[in-house]
Amino acid sequence: MAAIAAGDRARESGVPADITVFERDDRVGRSILATGNGRCNFSNAAIDVERYRNARFVSSAFDALGNPSFVLDSFEGLGLLWREESDGRLYPLANKASVVVDVLRAAAAELGVREACEREVAAVDPPREAEKPFTLRMSDGVFERADAVVLACGGRWSSSIGVEGLPFEPLSPVLGPLRVAKQDIPLVRELDNIRVRCAVDLARDGGAALQTIASERGELMFRKYGVSGICVFNLSRFARRGDVLRICFLPDEVAGNASGYLAARHRSLSRRFGETVTFEQMLRGVLLPRVSEAVLKKGGFQPGSAFRKRDASRLAELLTRFPLVVEGIGDSDICQVRRGGFSPDAVDPATMQARACPGLFLAGEALDVDGPCGGYNLHWAWTSGAIAGRSAVELMSGAGFE
Ligand SMILES: Cc1cc2nc3c(=O)[nH]c(=O)nc-3n(C[C@H](O)[C@H](O)[C@H](O)COP(=O)(O)OP(=O)(O)OC[C@H]3O[C@@H](n4cnc5c(N)ncnc54)[C@H](O)[C@@H]3O)c2cc1C
Repeated sequence: MAAIAAGDRARESGVPADITVFERDDRVGRSILATGNGRCNFSNAAIDVERYRNARFVSSAFDALGNPSFVLDSFEGLGLLWREESDGRLYPLANKASVVVDVLRAAAAELGVREACEREVAAVDPPREAEKPFTLRMSDGVFERADAVVLACGGRWSSSIGVEGLPFEPLSPVLGPLRVAKQDIPLVRELDNIRVRCAVDLARDGGAALQTIASERGELMFRKYGVSGICVFNLSRFARRGDVLRICFLPDEVAGNASGYLAARHRSLSRRFGETVTFEQMLRGVLLPRVSEAVLKKGGFQPGSAFRKRDASRLAELLTRFPLVVEGIGDSDICQVRRGGFSPDAVDPATMQARACPGLFLAGEALDVDGPCGGYNLHWAWTSGAIAGRSAVELMSGAGFE
């Protein structure tokens, strides 16, 4: 997207520009192919800028474009058709990420952008004197020169490219599964691979009581080491060791008065099954048997023993705030984003230019910006990439930024 924006601006302004994408991999866009389970959730119809990390910076960048539908307009111009799924998620109509890569590559090729694959940049050396080019030190020992550089190396690799004088925040994986604390491992191991639809919140010790940090709802999957699923991925952006995940297994209309619901359920079941209704019977038809076993085990209840009225509030608590203590990220390889990277503080959001290094532009996940699942991270990559590419050519033209 950066190369296309640069090419478009060069063509519009008549500035001759020789644009090359240096890619360490053997093809460009491989990371796009892996997105959205191979379908590429490339944007969202209802981006809420407040959900980004470093939201003020992101908001200024979006404002700089002056067109809230910039990403969609760009893809429309590239010839992509798409459709909207739940929560505003946008996917290519063809339902394949490769189609997104195809339209980008075709547009770049038409603009004369060169793809230099298997060319890894080891370091970017800014010019020592005005009017001199940047030097890209390639890992094969070759030096490449450039009047302007857009660094769009993603999060995973951002720490391996040396750029003198740019503040860099340490990297940590986010948007992934969470590992639970040792005491909860036997419990989740029993539930491995089970999916539940639930609401889940992340709570933190706030002194007197736990305070909710973030809430999500959706499908949660238990894993041997913890929990996964998009709702957990989103919570992982805020989670710290010692935080508590509180899972609500009941639907909203019941959860608000869960102990009242359980008391009424007890009365109703005892009409059918007799005076004694066991805990197992109380949860039959509500939860999968293995989940109900886990809930009862956590509460110290025997599945076969009789449910008594006085058990209602404790059982209600377990069904609406089933607690799992967070240890940390479950599997960093599954994480979709690396938090950290080049600090936005050092970058002008209107141009993406590094303040201390004229001619160097940064974009995408290389910057310390991340958002929730749902197309936010690619939306940021396209937007910041386009601003960076366009600004790079505007700088070269000497006419100043538009
Ligand atoms: C499994 C998975 C699924 C995801 N699904 C979605 C989704 O559906 N929607 C969404 O919005 N986001 C999704 N994301 C996040 C999204 O893919 C990234 O945030 C986005 O791709 C970042 O774009 P980028 O251009 O900044 O970096 P990248 O896409 O990581 O691209 C960086 C490129 O630079 C190359 N490179 C790196 N270092 C060098 C170097 N030194 N020299 C030369 N080349 C280099 C890399 O090989 C890579 O091709 C997903 C991520 C993962 C891992």
